[in-house]
Amino acid sequence: MVNDEERLAVVLREFARTLTTDFPMQGIVDHLVGRIVEVLPVTSAAVTLISHDLSPKYVSASNAASLGFEQLQSNFGDGPCILAYQSGESVAVPDLLLDERFPVFGPAARAEGLAAVFTFPLRHGDGCIGALDLYRETTGPLSVHEMITAETMADVVAACLINAQARERADVASAAYLYDSLHDPLTDLPNRTFLMDRVHDANVRAKRSRLNTGVYFVDLDRFKLINDHHGHHVGDKLLIAVARRFSNILRQEDTVARISGDEFVFLCEALPDTIEAENIGARIEKVFERPFVVDGLRLSISASIGMAVVGPGEEISAELIVHADTAMYLIKRHRGGRRHVVGPIDSALSSLPQNFEQEIGDALEKNELHVAYQPIVRMSDNVMSGVEALLRWEHPTRGKISPVIVVGAAERSSLINLLGEWILERSCSALRTWGIGDRLAPIGIAVNVSARQLVSGDFFNTVEQTVSGAGIDPTRLVLEMTENLLIEDSDRAMKVLSDLRGLGVRIAVDDFGTGYSSLSYLTRLPIDIVKIDQSLIAGIASGPEAVVVSAVTNLAHELGMVVVVEGIENQAQHHEIARIGCDYAQGFYFSEPMSESGIMGIDWSLPLPNGPSRFR
Ligand code: C2E
Ligand code: MG
Ligand code: MG
Repeated sequence: MVNDEERLAVVLREFARTLTTDFPMQGIVDHLVGRIVEVLPVTSAAVTLISHDLSPKYVSASNAASLGFEQLQSNFGDGPCILAYQSGESVAVPDLLLDERFPVFGPAARAEGLAAVFTFPLRHGDGCIGALDLYRETTGPLSVHEMITAETMADVVAACLINAQARERADVASAAYLYDSLHDPLTDLPNRTFLMDRVHDANVRAKRSRLNTGVYFVDLDRFKLINDHHGHHVGDKLLIAVARRFSNILRQEDTVARISGDEFVFLCEALPDTIEAENIGARIEKVFERPFVVDGLRLSISASIGMAVVGPGEEISAELIVHADTAMYLIKRHRGGRRHVVGPIDSALSSLPQNFEQEIGDALEKNELHVAYQPIVRMSDNVMSGVEALLRWEHPTRGKISPVIVVGAAERSSLINLLGEWILERSCSALRTWGIGDRLAPIGIAVNVSARQLVSGDFFNTVEQTVSGAGIDPTRLVLEMTENLLIEDSDRAMKVLSDLRGLGVRIAVDDFGTGYSSLSYLTRLPIDIVKIDQSLIAGIASGPEAVVVSAVTNLAHELGMVVVVEGIENQAQHHEIARIGCDYAQGFYFSEPMSESGIMGIDWSLPLPNGPSRFR
């Protein structure tokens, strides 16, 4: 026969076990009220957890009557449970009729058939987390032994509850931590880590799939302008609004992640064909058709979207994101922030072999790369006042490869730094070899620099050392950067530019007019020279471009900048820009890019003859 002591020992052991298992709080209180009525001579039992920091409030009762008594006490704010909770002491009411401490609860409970109640606080440290109520339909006290048993159970259960509570909190916190580590806090979209997980999963699925996978790299155009003009809080809200629209166009199997400031990546699996891949690009593009309303402002923005698609069974890796990024970059770089267009450059890049960067590296080592130099002439007298260095590669099997492709591919890795250093070094030493550095003024030698080169590595020191190594005057060097990249780029880029200017190097904004041509932006960029893009020149003699070129020229002059016009191919264009008052010109009309020795053959102090024939 099991005696009371043994039964109690069994019950206590059961509770102790919850300390080492995943028993939930509600399960513990349910178990307590169920078991205690077996151990002690009471009709029913109930528990209410009252403590402020225990939420939700857990209630358990062994039957409907005890639940009713529990509710009476909490509704009235009166009863032994409340007293035990407040005093931290057990409360014994052997006869409810004779006890005057509960004027509201007492009569109401008696009317429901309650005769006696014994309450034990669930203690935790100096405070209480709730109380255990034992109800009886007959009057009379519990023995000292029974009171101690009940108190012991209350203490053990309190310890179990605190333990379970800590466990539940830890579970919630670790789930939240996991979520946070995979999401962008601003937009709540998946972050780069999450995206890479999805890329990995997609690759596993793709091995068995007969479908295509597309990656879309989306970069908002001119986002920096929005931050600058309206403040970061508007920029942040805009990013949230963009993220929301992106989420709305997703299919079940798509992921969109925010991977940095204004850059988003879509990973879209299970595309039946390339038409669907294009459709998704168009859908992303459409997101920007309507303006975004933020803080009462109507913000019209566009995005540059680069796309990379792989066919069935092909590997899906981080490389695919890099390809989409490169495609996006080229769109921004060469077409100036136009929306989704996957053009020949992108296709050319994405169809390049995986090891193309390696080929460039090898070509660099084998001296297969060259730099060509295109004269820049002074408008007033056609005297050569500088040259632009342009990369050339005659590939042994592929033939001539555009520098746009070479630079674009090199930018996928840190190779761009090596390549950029090499071009800079070649150009500076060419200037030195010509021996006309001090007279080839004011442009001197202009070298194109990619923004990625600018912010990666120690670009400033590279320039400083290359210039001094070649023994040329830093004021003879111009670094050309594109307008979009200048506008979009980080504070870090601006700092490097201003350090370079401190050294005496001048900065040119290249291809001006292809992007946003925000004239006001000219006033804010750390630049000395504006190079007007050839796309504005092509129709200048007959079209409205003359007005734009004239406005840019006037403003640049106001700001003390020099204006160079690119892509002069004929006399009519030459006349027009002369009329407008541009300072310098470059184009096939004067000379195509030529070799280092070709430049040597020019008498720099004489006007370059007009007409394309001589220097072709
Ligand atoms: P860019 O800096 O705007 O260079 C001017 C481009 O216009 C050159 O193309 C040049 O050959 C071409 N050009 C010059 N005059 C005329 C003309 O009268 N008519 C026409 N239609 N085109 C003319 P290229 O050499 O193919 O270079 C293309 C772009 O590749 C450059 O544009 C520049 O952004 C980039 N690039 C070239 N070399 C380098 C380099 O060493 N480093 C970097 N980062 N980029 C480079
Ligand atoms: Mg250039
Ligand atoms: Mg240009």
